[in-house]
Amino acid sequence: MTLLTDLTPEELAAFVRALGWPDFRARQINGWLVKGCDFDGMANLPRELIARLEEVAVAQPARVLEHHVSSDDGTEKMLFGFSDGHCVEGVLMRYRHGITLCLSTQVGCRMGCAFCASTLNGRQRNLSAGEMLGMAYTANRLAMPEKVSNIVLMGSGEPLDNYDQVIRFLRLVSSPDSLNIGLRHISLSTCGLSDGIRKLAGEGLPVTLSVSLHAPNDLIRKQLMPVASAFPMEGLLLSCKDYLKKTGRRIVFEYALIRGVNDGPEHARELAGRLRGMQCHVNLIPLNDVPERGLRASGKAEMQRFLGELKDMDVSVTVRRQLGDDIAGACGQLRAQRLKTPLLPDGDGGKA
Ligand code: SAH
Repeated sequence: MTLLTDLTPEELAAFVRALGWPDFRARQINGWLVKGCDFDGMANLPRELIARLEEVAVAQPARVLEHHVSSDDGTEKMLFGFSDGHCVEGVLMRYRHGITLCLSTQVGCRMGCAFCASTLNGRQRNLSAGEMLGMAYTANRLAMPEKVSNIVLMGSGEPLDNYDQVIRFLRLVSSPDSLNIGLRHISLSTCGLSDGIRKLAGEGLPVTLSVSLHAPNDLIRKQLMPVASAFPMEGLLLSCKDYLKKTGRRIVFEYALIRGVNDGPEHARELAGRLRGMQCHVNLIPLNDVPERGLRASGKAEMQRFLGELKDMDVSVTVRRQLGDDIAGACGQLRAQRLKTPLLPDGDGGKA
């Protein structure tokens, strides 16, 4: 079976031509796909063509298995299911400037961050570009009459560990034949695969690069993120500077404040020192508690102090607003609930 959302418009035209139908039918099909329609909704196509397509192709890969709407802030969380039984999450967040869609790039994740629920059970498989696009089409349909205006690749999975499909997705979703979402309105979040960042810098895709730093040095970072052993901070920051130079896009550093681990004023000062002179922004995130690992969010006072230290040292910094708390809004939580497994299975001390 061919997944139609995996195809570029040219590939779709060739596919439809091979079935014996003219190119304009492919353009009609693409129009329906972008609207999030499945075969049964493609009203202006001949019945014979639909019947033939149903035999050899899939239109929409992602079924909405669960859909929760936060009564606090209108955030919507979806659990998307695929035909092989796997599922991943997506989140729609409403801001004043538009609707942001948070998408997953892999089923599960193999990066093993101590605080992250997505890493539970490791990586099951990569998502294809068409599966990511299908989720975007379906979510965009749910957002109607509004439109998704921004995308963040911050759901489950490590985008740079699924490099080719993520790049293909970025090219497809930003094209006028698709959702036409400007690359500057797309953020790619990585745990810090320096080699992937260098490669991405050469693609000519000016997406915002978010780097999950979460620590001011390798000692603390290694305790939280196994990836820090393979890609130490110095090299990581150099690859970020390279990205900045090639794309002109400032880097966003994500920093989850974890009580007693990385939230002291000395950590803030060390962080500011390392980022000195770099065009970047720091996003402080209140940790979603991981009691199994003894990891808890920092208190309000610690957060304010950390924020103040960074500001005093002229670092551009904000605290990320928490949305969707009442609907298991954090990474991997909904899927973890669905799998009915504890958040993290082994409970060994990932705590620093
Ligand atoms: N693999 C990518 C993208 C997925 S995670 C990455 O690591 O960036 C999206 C963001 O949520 C990352 O910054 C991640 O570190 C953060 N995150 C994961 N678990 C969290 C938790 N329990 N509390 C707060 N942030 C968390």
